Amino acid sequence: MYCLHMSDLDLTGKRVMMREDLNVPVDGGRVTSDARIRAAVPSIREALAQGAAGVLLLSHLGRPKEGKFEEEHSLAPVAVRLSELLGQPVRLVRDWLDGVQVGAGEVVLCENVRFNPGENANDEALSRRMALLCDVFVMDAFGTAHRAQASTEGVARFAPEACAGPLLVREVMTLRDALEEPKRPMLAIVGGSKVSTKLAVLESLLQKCDELIVGGGIANTFIAATGHNVGKSLFEPDLVPEARRLIRLAHERGGNIPIPKDLLVAKSFTADAPATVRRLDEVRDDEMILDIGPLTAADYADIIWGAGTVIWNGPVGVFEFPAFIHGTQAVAEAIANAKCFSIAGGGDTLAAIDQFGVAEGIDYVSTGGGAFLEYVEGKTLPAVKVLEERAKSG
Ligand code: ADP
Ligand code: MG
Repeated sequence: MYCLHMSDLDLTGKRVMMREDLNVPVDGGRVTSDARIRAAVPSIREALAQGAAGVLLLSHLGRPKEGKFEEEHSLAPVAVRLSELLGQPVRLVRDWLDGVQVGAGEVVLCENVRFNPGENANDEALSRRMALLCDVFVMDAFGTAHRAQASTEGVARFAPEACAGPLLVREVMTLRDALEEPKRPMLAIVGGSKVSTKLAVLESLLQKCDELIVGGGIANTFIAATGHNVGKSLFEPDLVPEARRLIRLAHERGGNIPIPKDLLVAKSFTADAPATVRRLDEVRDDEMILDIGPLTAADYADIIWGAGTVIWNGPVGVFEFPAFIHGTQAVAEAIANAKCFSIAGGGDTLAAIDQFGVAEGIDYVSTGGGAFLEYVEGKTLPAVKVLEERAKSG
């Protein structure tokens, strides 16, 4: 990374604004997996230790509608957990764009950046307003570095000084080293719910990796693409032709994108919905696929055991519901126990790793999901690019 690092700068007496990725799962007003918050704590401590006059923290949480406050997407639970982990109070400020008083040594968390109109569109006026609030902008949110938004990319153009934070630097360096000469065969497992955004990375993963397993909503699109009924499942009908093309591409390269043999289905998307095992060709119109079945889980574990390197992002089922944790648990445990070099990342993937207690078996756990996949693809992360451009132009 050819850009300024936070450690290069003298922060003494400066107003420091840090963009972190504190987008963690929240349930009933409580943080249910604090992995991303824990990852950010050393960077915040470091900024204070370097003499920052105070730290103003920015983060998003979920995908709220821009323009208005929503309790559901408030960072309040994050402020509570962060202050426990930091061992000092963290004040949450709801209206912060016009300026915030930050005391010496104080850490202040600004309410969800995605409540601000223009955040997602990387609006210049909004970015400039943010830039006015600091002397130094520190981009440390690896998990959001693949998105050019006002609080990740825009503000970095206009802040008096802008640099990469310790977590961002460590993430990029570690992934770069790990992927330089990966042990073959290299397997990618991509699951989760963000079908359209992740489908785009599959093609380049097919080029980089020897094998590809798809899970979750993405797998449903592939199941539909092979002519099977997916009932009421989450999937993307528009992308069925694209899925067919990717299957052909995998075949041309002598590989394969395996389609699950068996599945767990439910009639409703609820936490207490009972699971029924179905063969691939047995899914009914009123059912939705919420996990892979036991035969498929065993197949995937075999593939994982045979891999030299495994890259994993995205649960293969709705593991938040007790009846549908098995597929994701089987994958997580196989990755942790197999001999392969393993890298895993993503907000919900981290939560699954926490829940199954497998973090120790995974060689590198990244805070990024989409960002991590895009990095693996070889794409430049826009929030890193802007820092490199600033460094070049002096
Ligand atoms: P990550 O945060 O690790 O990048 P995503 O946000 O893309 O992962 O996806 C995680 C979500 O995907 C989880 O909340 C999970 O419930 C959901 N999911 C997984 N499988 C399915 C499925 N078959 N149908 C609907 N949602 C699913
Ligand atoms: Mg997620």
